[in-house]
Amino acid sequence: MVVIGSGPAGQKAAIQARNLGNTVALIEKTRELGGSCVHRGTIPSKTLRENALRVKNMRMNAELANFKLREDLELATLINRLEIVLHAHDKYMSKQMTRCGVEFIHGRARFLSPTSLEVTKLRQEPEIINCQRIVIATGSHPRVPDNIPIDHEHLLDSDSILSMMYLPKSLVVLGGGVIASEYASIFQALGVKVTMIDKYPRPLGFLDDDLSSTFISAFENMGGTWLGNTNVIKAYWNGYDGVITECEGGLEIKSDKLLCAAGRIANVSDLNIEEAGLQLNSRGLITVDEHLQTQVPSIYAAGDVIGPPSLASASMEQGRRASCNALGKECGRIHQLIPTGIYSIPELSSVGLSETQAKEQYGENVIVGRSFFDEIARGQINDIQDGMLKIVCDPQGRKVLGVMIVAEGATELVHIGQMALLNDNDVDVFVESIFNFPTLAEAYRVAALDVLAQREKIQ
Ligand SMILES: Cc1cc2nc3c(=O)[nH]c(=O)nc-3n(C[C@H](O)[C@H](O)[C@H](O)COP(=O)(O)OP(=O)(O)OC[C@H]3O[C@@H](n4cnc5c(N)ncnc54)[C@H](O)[C@@H]3O)c2cc1C
Repeated sequence: MVVIGSGPAGQKAAIQARNLGNTVALIEKTRELGGSCVHRGTIPSKTLRENALRVKNMRMNAELANFKLREDLELATLINRLEIVLHAHDKYMSKQMTRCGVEFIHGRARFLSPTSLEVTKLRQEPEIINCQRIVIATGSHPRVPDNIPIDHEHLLDSDSILSMMYLPKSLVVLGGGVIASEYASIFQALGVKVTMIDKYPRPLGFLDDDLSSTFISAFENMGGTWLGNTNVIKAYWNGYDGVITECEGGLEIKSDKLLCAAGRIANVSDLNIEEAGLQLNSRGLITVDEHLQTQVPSIYAAGDVIGPPSLASASMEQGRRASCNALGKECGRIHQLIPTGIYSIPELSSVGLSETQAKEQYGENVIVGRSFFDEIARGQINDIQDGMLKIVCDPQGRKVLGVMIVAEGATELVHIGQMALLNDNDVDVFVESIFNFPTLAEAYRVAALDVLAQREKIQ
């Protein structure tokens, strides 16, 4: 088997195929293993976030420490642990590949036929590789709208934002999705004056309004500006001292830098997929069935190249399953219940149905229990003021349909709700269980008691 791409999907596909006793080669065009997850996405942004949180907390305690960031702060200082984290990750991944016996080929792969690939290596003759099975796990790259001339110096995308030398004084963020919300709030927490602009009325529109409102108010309390319902006509570097963003209606914003976070596009252009007998779908993605198999029986695909949810967490499992299916190993259906983790400041996380989705499916009478973190002991101790946890139940107030959380720690806490959903539990499970005290997990119990109180009233 040959796996193309060494991101979360490709790695897990390669390791699984090896574990099933196959001869496996992993082709990667960049020098490092790990894909955009490790080098340009998840890990770098979360490393910066940790330091942004530290800075935010120090600022909150400024009276104690008289704290102020240096004016000419280099971005590298703020992601100083990144090199250590990446190096450790790289070493661990290479070791795992070697231990499993996966052959690593450094080069760019393109199809010659459904079972043969040409691999172009640096300053070497291309190599032809023939194989029985192929997993495409080539990931994605940032989408660049025509009116935003990304130069990776003043106008940046999510791949180049962390290559800025210095922390800018001001930043315009275009977009209202996960990556835009994460970077906007992270840079605002670092003291950058951030303006977030999107054509939609709210950021993170797939969440319930009360969650996105909590995000907006936390972002604005830190000093950020949210401009919804705003169309950007164009943005450009003025050649002198700033980026100009022109919006419909005459609004013009000048900033040191601009980040364009307008979605991602599958990495397929250099794969020559027509030679494999494949076609892209209308969204420019590779179509797969529930077994992650493409229209060509010997070719499977996994990760961002097949589209949403476009998460590292889901990509890993898709990669593993693609190999199992390709090699005839039973691994069950892929579970639809995938949690969403948004590492903005504050964190947001959800699993299962949102309140809006539940109302669409079960009617207006769904019962929603809420708990507010300033009303539970751990929330007060940790000074988590804006936190909220919601449990969405069916109209009888029994079956748990979804859990949504906004607060520091939300991305970890959500897994308790995920387990209840996976086990088809009634909401009572949160009341019958005893949680450690004081913990944020106690919020589940408080929200569940709220559901029970509402249930009493309708009985
Ligand atoms: C800023 C940011 C933050 C994110 N945060 C999170 C998060 O917190 N949690 C989460 O779950 N997800 C997060 N994601 C999403 C996550 O990074 C992706 O879903 C994940 O990396 C997809 O994995 P993949 O294996 O499909 O592709 P990738 O990680 O993109 O890897 C694909 C690999 O294929 C290689 N490749 C491409 N074409 C070829 C070719 N022709 N020949 C050889 N090699 C090739 C590429 O060089 C690359 O190394 C984030 C993404 C970004 C951009």
